[in-house]
Amino acid sequence: MNPFEALGLREEIVRSLQDLQFETPTPIQAQAIPFVLSGQRDLIAFAQTGTGKTAAFGLPLIHQVDETNPATQALILSPTRELCLQISRDLSEFSKYINGLEVIPIYGGVDAAGQLRALRDRAQIVVATPGRALDLINRKKLRIDSIQQMVLDEADEMLSMGFKDELDAILSHTPQDKQTLLFSATMPNEMMRIARQYMHDPEQISVGRRNAGADMVRHQYFLLKARDRYEVLKRVVDLNPSMYSIVFCRTRNETREIAQHLVQEGYSADALHGDLSQGQREVVMNRFRHKSVDILIATDVAARGLDVNDLTHVINYSLPDDPEVYVHRSGRTGRAGRSGVCISMVHGRDRGKLKRIEKTLKKDFDELKIPTGRDICQKQLFNYIDQMENVEVSPEVEPFLPEISAKLSWLSKDELIKRMVSLEFTHLLDKYKDARDLLPTGSEKDGQSNRRERKKAKSEKVEGYSTIFVAVGKKDRVTPKDIITLVNRAMPRASIKIGQIHISRNYTLFEIDQAFESDLVKALGKMKHKGAKLGAKVAVE
Ligand code: AMP
Repeated sequence: MNPFEALGLREEIVRSLQDLQFETPTPIQAQAIPFVLSGQRDLIAFAQTGTGKTAAFGLPLIHQVDETNPATQALILSPTRELCLQISRDLSEFSKYINGLEVIPIYGGVDAAGQLRALRDRAQIVVATPGRALDLINRKKLRIDSIQQMVLDEADEMLSMGFKDELDAILSHTPQDKQTLLFSATMPNEMMRIARQYMHDPEQISVGRRNAGADMVRHQYFLLKARDRYEVLKRVVDLNPSMYSIVFCRTRNETREIAQHLVQEGYSADALHGDLSQGQREVVMNRFRHKSVDILIATDVAARGLDVNDLTHVINYSLPDDPEVYVHRSGRTGRAGRSGVCISMVHGRDRGKLKRIEKTLKKDFDELKIPTGRDICQKQLFNYIDQMENVEVSPEVEPFLPEISAKLSWLSKDELIKRMVSLEFTHLLDKYKDARDLLPTGSEKDGQSNRRERKKAKSEKVEGYSTIFVAVGKKDRVTPKDIITLVNRAMPRASIKIGQIHISRNYTLFEIDQAFESDLVKALGKMKHKGAKLGAKVAVE
């Protein structure tokens, strides 16, 4: 019997899975599908993207929907437009043999007219982002008062993006006796609260360890000087010629600059950040999905919802302050049974962050030696030679061989090899001919030239934005909207550009136009958020 049929799924679904060549259920599917099919208990599943979680909740939902009834019977909430579209594409594919079953994606940032039309017709399964869902619920266009199942996908992401109020409002519109399925990679306190308030005696299942990065991921780091990060990044890319990776940066400026430099130096890279229009974002993401770009430089916010499964490497150009963010980043590699590598660039003060992250993941990370020019040339040369040894010789070359052999007959085997290798590697060998060895922070040389280097690193800091620290965070229920409101209240007459906002448990970091740095810190000085003092200061990297 087909293993999906054995889990109890209907024949039409099993047929679509055969088309997709899903042969065996993934661990999360094997656990979740029979549980959800069996009845009424709620479920909390700890699973990251890439584990097959979409099918884990999607298949039993499709199985249980009555396609002859046009009413909305299941609502899936997801944090981003991209994820929303991905889920609804997957579910439409799984249900393609069930006539009359419609899966409708509902998300913000576009005109609602098309979505309203789709909802008026048949919409048994609605996949929505929280903001647009609540808007349409309030306008009585999306009716969820008789749904039987509700899924909160990437619940931790939805909360860290500030959708707490929307989730509360939506959940309070749903019937008491529905089944709720919550999928998340981590378990922040706020999510525990939601589970306690809205779920009934939930069963908990997890694939891999709770709060842990995927098990197939090797965690490695370089100790380096901040100013060497770009050079080390290039060496890592050169050392791994078939790399397909996301490089995570702190600011959009940094993202843009690194991508620009890489492209200028001939690498296949592009940047994904918040300054891009939706159309530009789609172009970059598609190029990366289709591997016409190998290295994507991105901020956390911009990379959300990018459904890429087979990264070879995740690179932290900057370590995140919050270990949960690290868990998310590193979970983007080492999927579907493949191994992956998460490499972090760690300098000076970041060592404390590294310790906290290691503690959260309960793993010791491996320190890597910064590759020298010789290491890189050697690795690539041998890679090339290996490929040459193993290449399947095409019969199409046969007719040309006599003439080629005659032409090269004056060369010995050694001469031939030298020429071939030079032809392929002159560029790389030239590039690293005079490359200096990059020493880690804390090395002897570093001590001597410390001050000069700090000064230089400072002058190289990305221009434009300053990062401001305030001593209120998730524990004070700060949302990005709150930060924007506080800035506007502090300096109502100035129009201050705000960059990335990162909310941790105990504090928040956010970027603002550098020109307002000291005025804003002063103005925020006496202000409070829900009674807690802000204690604003300029964050030092
Ligand atoms: P997800 O975690 O839902 O994003 O799924 C990750 C990837 O695994 C997607 O590309 C799915 O199409 C694929 N996938 C999910 N379940 C299976 C399965 N049982 N067999 C093979 N591929 C799967």
